[in-house]
Amino acid sequence: MPENKVENTIILCRSCDLAVRKRALPSGVRALCPRCSTALYDTPYCSINGMLALCISALVFYFPANFLPLLEIHFLGSIRTTTVFQGAFAVLEQGYWVVGLAVLAAAVIGPGLLILSILAQILIVKWGLSVPFWRHCLQQLLKQQAWLSQLTMLEIYVISFLVSSFQLSDFSDIHFGMGTFCFTMLFLVTLFLQREYDIDHMWTLLDEHH
Ligand SMILES: [Zn+2]
Repeated sequence: MPENKVENTIILCRSCDLAVRKRALPSGVRALCPRCSTALYDTPYCSINGMLALCISALVFYFPANFLPLLEIHFLGSIRTTTVFQGAFAVLEQGYWVVGLAVLAAAVIGPGLLILSILAQILIVKWGLSVPFWRHCLQQLLKQQAWLSQLTMLEIYVISFLVSSFQLSDFSDIHFGMGTFCFTMLFLVTLFLQREYDIDHMWTLLDEHH
């Protein structure tokens, strides 16, 4: 179990320099320095199996979220449906290619890459840490993690989507499709995944396994 190895990590208290052995914390609990009660750390260690479950759920929602209708617009007797993917391309075709690319990157490509990257990292941590090739892959993935999580901005997309659909609802009849449900679930699962994920902990797992 790689999780157990982490229990040997020593950190120094920021205020009084007392050496404290870092150990796994349950969610929502904060570790305090035993001498001066300064808060030391409060992020729970990411549980590898928990993140694996979140990754798989995110992948299950990913494809319907992007390719099922997000909106059904009933307008002058005709029904139009829109998916995230079509939305981005419609913007591209109208010549707003910066906006279109931003939507594609932030709502489609970014989350997809992020989920796949974390999934690969988890699989390597679980089964591949003793193989040098996989260790090298994990190292490369961890180096890319920062910009990948910055690229993923599902929340901005959710907000702009809601704003535009309320504006549209003034002059047409708007129905939310199955894609909306999946997109919301994708958004929530990714949120929890990013909260659970701890890059420092992933580096520790890599460094400690020799
Ligand atoms: Zn202290």
